[in-house]
Amino acid sequence: MKLPKEMQAVIFEKIGAHKLVTVPVPEIRNPDDLLVKIEAASICGSDLHILADPPGCIAVPGTVIGHEMVGEVVETGSGVTGFCPGDRLVCDPNISCGRCEACRTGHKNMCENLHIHGVDRHGFFAQYACIPERSAVKISPSLSKEQAIFAEPLTCVMSAVDKARLLPGETVAVIGAGPIGLYFLSLFRVNGAGRVISVEPSEYRRKYAEKMGADAALDPKKQDAAAEIRALTGGRGADVVVDAVGMCVADALRYVCRGGRVVLFGQNAAARETICQNDITRNEITLFGSYIGPYTMSATVKLLESGLIDFSKMITHRLALREFDEGLAAMRSGTALEVVLDPFA
Ligand SMILES: [Zn+2]
Ligand SMILES: [Zn+2]
Repeated sequence: MKLPKEMQAVIFEKIGAHKLVTVPVPEIRNPDDLLVKIEAASICGSDLHILADPPGCIAVPGTVIGHEMVGEVVETGSGVTGFCPGDRLVCDPNISCGRCEACRTGHKNMCENLHIHGVDRHGFFAQYACIPERSAVKISPSLSKEQAIFAEPLTCVMSAVDKARLLPGETVAVIGAGPIGLYFLSLFRVNGAGRVISVEPSEYRRKYAEKMGADAALDPKKQDAAAEIRALTGGRGADVVVDAVGMCVADALRYVCRGGRVVLFGQNAAARETICQNDITRNEITLFGSYIGPYTMSATVKLLESGLIDFSKMITHRLALREFDEGLAAMRSGTALEVVLDPFA
């Protein structure tokens, strides 16, 4: 295949600023590189943090942003053994070093030298990208790009769901019904939850929570969510509570049952909360954080290929890459859930 010399890409320019630019198509530099033609990329909440002023996540100026994509291999480095041109893939954008203590002890998401596509390595709001073979997971030729595009955020949630060890029939409450909250709802649903309850102040998002299988969607501004959850669980509270927002641990402790688990997934480095530690001790609550999904991408691809959950229902915007600003504005105003960009439209 004859490749063009130049391509369109969205770069992080400086704090609070990005730009649609024409840049050279990347070239294979390392033997294990794959050159990928991007079929679709999607805008993640963390892209909003990168582009905020002050930024919630610091990207390197000049870097192509975006870390969620579906693509097709167009060229392979000399040492690549598992991929051929024409293979389709999704990518784990987090590149661990494999050498530090965290990597050597099986915690590559805690790598001391972590690099991330779309943050400090070129990402995927572009027509082509170069990625290492070990970051790629092959997908079936028949898996639609509108389903495959969910692989990256979903793998992070898969990892947290794995840690929560839900038993069939247990009740789950998920705080927040943005994309991450909706992934939690859907995964716990197919994982055998008896009841899944969403807690979300936005009516727009509560509708999607119902669409993705929530049994109840509570408005914490108008209802006493803790009392409602107790009423729905025979006075006990939820077995598992997820904070998909990043500043709701106090609420989570009010929703969880004695002996229950609280999954802290959302991130907000600026948030400070007041909790009563004795509530945790006296009720033997287990709280744990979960950060990205180091080992769940293959399982996530299998889930997407199974068709058990139709995530494409969450796509609210289908735009060309050059319409990035429109998608970003919709995300910022809370009138979008999943914005999918087509770099070749
Ligand atoms: Zn993401
Ligand atoms: Zn490492």
